[in-house]
Amino acid sequence: MNALAATSRNFKQAARLLGLDSKLEKSLLIPFREIKVECTIPKDDGSLVSYVGFRVQHDNARGPMKGGIRYHPEESGIDAHFEVIADSSGPTPILIFNPIIRDSFSELKYVSSACSEIEVDPDEVNALAQLMTWKTAVANIPYGGAKGGIGCAPGELSISELERLTRVFTQKIHDLIGTHTDVPAPDMGTNSQTMAWILDEYSKFHGYSPAVVTGKPVDLGGSLGRDAATGRGVLFATEALLREHGKSISGQRFIIQKTATCRVHIGRIASIVQLCRDTRQLLTRGKEVGEWASRGVELAGEGFGNVGSWAARLIYENGGKVVAVSDISGAIKNSKGIDVPSLLKHTIEKRGVKGFNGADPIDEKSILVEDCDVLIPAALGGVINRENANGIRAKFIIEAANHPTDPEADEILSKKGVVILPDILANSGGVTVSYFEWVQNIQGFMWDEEKVNNELKTYMTKGFKAVKEMCQTHNCVLRMGAFTLGVNRVARATALRGWEA
Ligand code: GLU
Repeated sequence: MNALAATSRNFKQAARLLGLDSKLEKSLLIPFREIKVECTIPKDDGSLVSYVGFRVQHDNARGPMKGGIRYHPEESGIDAHFEVIADSSGPTPILIFNPIIRDSFSELKYVSSACSEIEVDPDEVNALAQLMTWKTAVANIPYGGAKGGIGCAPGELSISELERLTRVFTQKIHDLIGTHTDVPAPDMGTNSQTMAWILDEYSKFHGYSPAVVTGKPVDLGGSLGRDAATGRGVLFATEALLREHGKSISGQRFIIQKTATCRVHIGRIASIVQLCRDTRQLLTRGKEVGEWASRGVELAGEGFGNVGSWAARLIYENGGKVVAVSDISGAIKNSKGIDVPSLLKHTIEKRGVKGFNGADPIDEKSILVEDCDVLIPAALGGVINRENANGIRAKFIIEAANHPTDPEADEILSKKGVVILPDILANSGGVTVSYFEWVQNIQGFMWDEEKVNNELKTYMTKGFKAVKEMCQTHNCVLRMGAFTLGVNRVARATALRGWEA
């Protein structure tokens, strides 16, 4: 299911449980502002190239809008004119269609629906911005929600190209972000260096403003503990959930999926769709795209490796047995437990888990259905869907990624009795420590790491407790507990501020 449709469906279900006024419900779904800009930069070889950058600002009832900026090929999907479906198992490796040419192509026999694995959702960023609104409300930090990004493959750009791109993007959006309006942070494919460039460029227009971004390098006002925060938050949330079930981290078997297995280079597909105005061209180009798909795209930064690596390290340190891990390089398994510190060393040296001699290689696609107690998807959205939900053997799923579980899979898993800790609670540790960073910048006072981690534990534990209370009040599963909690807080703030005038 489309990410926006899935998120909106969860929202609507929560609105019904809360008995929300229908006009208020409608207004809460509509984004505050959607910004789309062209970022044209000279490449190192002197050629000129243009990327689409965007920021969706969803809601600001509870405070400045907040959320990551991702650099990812799929984000060119923001253009929303394209829908791309790829299927390498059928007679033709790929089908591309968009609303303009859909009619002619839908007659082709190559149409396949069994290809959700690499389906691209143009509404993704909208869904992610909306999720940030509910997430900051669940965490009870004084923010709204936003998300943005640039449709590019950061792994294919040099550092100086990335810097130029980031600076041009900042020039285009500087008057729409700010300490008290919208505060970006790292996400997939971006990191503290990206935030340093944004801070520098923004400060040229507005004077030195460290609190305009979070997730900065510590030398520039970043918070101690921010890098590990999402992974550490996952640990605290998992501890709270397991405690509720009379269990603890130690003694449980964990699987951590750090990246999805197969993603398409959509930046190129978007231009290919434009090129493919007749069937023959489409199919020729399609084969090419199918090859890119199987290669995947290497990215670094929050969401790609960082969250999963920290979660694995902290779970191991707390006595958990990590039995399988996957990343962009492949998947590995050791039922007796993986030596995580050695694996992390190997991962840094070899740029991936592949070839680690303390575990056996397994098929990347089977990682989600391997035997374990706790499954932690820490990669992309939609990886748990109706295709694989029945095969999942975990008793608990902790959503370290944003919207990894499709609503259809949600239903299947809930019937099987699998307990899912939803993303807007499970991965809220990142934005929570972003809030601590913002507070420190505004106060001009730095906290030590122990204080950051202790405060994070308090916020995660309180968040879990508040979600459980909503589950009791509305007799619902954790996802609806989190949605009703978040939506209710935003709805109350909206109503108090007065929204109908
Ligand atoms: N990108 C992270 C998220 O999806 C963190 C956002 C932030 O710190 O603002 O929650």
